[in-house]
Amino acid sequence: MKPYPVLAYHKISRQWELSFTMMYPRAFTAQMQHLAKKGYKGCSLKEYLAKPEENRFVLTFDDAYESVYHYAAPVLEKLGFHATLFVLNAYIGKDNVWDFRPGDTHSRHMSAAQLLELQEKDWEIASHGERHRVLTGMKDDELKYELEHSKASLEALTGREIPTFCFPFGVYNRRVVDAARQAGYRNLVGFTGASRYGVIPRSVVYRTVDNSRSVLRKIRIRSACHSFENCKEQLFHSFAFFTRIAQKFMH
Ligand SMILES: [Zn+2]
Repeated sequence: MKPYPVLAYHKISRQWELSFTMMYPRAFTAQMQHLAKKGYKGCSLKEYLAKPEENRFVLTFDDAYESVYHYAAPVLEKLGFHATLFVLNAYIGKDNVWDFRPGDTHSRHMSAAQLLELQEKDWEIASHGERHRVLTGMKDDELKYELEHSKASLEALTGREIPTFCFPFGVYNRRVVDAARQAGYRNLVGFTGASRYGVIPRSVVYRTVDNSRSVLRKIRIRSACHSFENCKEQLFHSFAFFTRIAQKFMH
């Protein structure tokens, strides 16, 4: 499968925290303006798959934080860009108590009203499961619940079909991919790396190492298996392992 130009962001926030994936609004704005200046247009995954034009790239935000609503959405609206939001169904409008939070900092997830407002502006609402747990170790009924309940709830909320699912921590195997397809998802999304089982890989944007130029490289390099950007992302993605370990101790 030809890789798609997909960027993955998390929080866009003014509040510093010990996280590689949070991005300051100023840096995010500069990156988006740079891509617009180079002739690119950000769109949701659903839009891109329906019409994969050369000058388009896909923008995704994991966990649907409220900070994205406050700091990213106005910037994207000005540029005429849209995005896909990966929503944690059990945490809509709530704090991210599921996450490892050094210093006990809290971040709020978008409310139902905020999600619907962005949907009205052509953003795609997609599922990230219920509680941001690794799916691969789950028993069949628990796995089914994460996949199917989040889909049904988000469909009831949005009044639309939810065809897209993003694996928490980008972790998946053949079993959970089959279960996701069985649940009715057509577009499955992971993180950096080669595409396995038809899962769409993405380029994660990191605060500490990325800038407007590297973000441009990420959307231009389609066969990125041996690229510099890809190696960098693999390295940083390995830090997500620590979040998973920390999460295990919290539950
Ligand atoms: Zn996530």
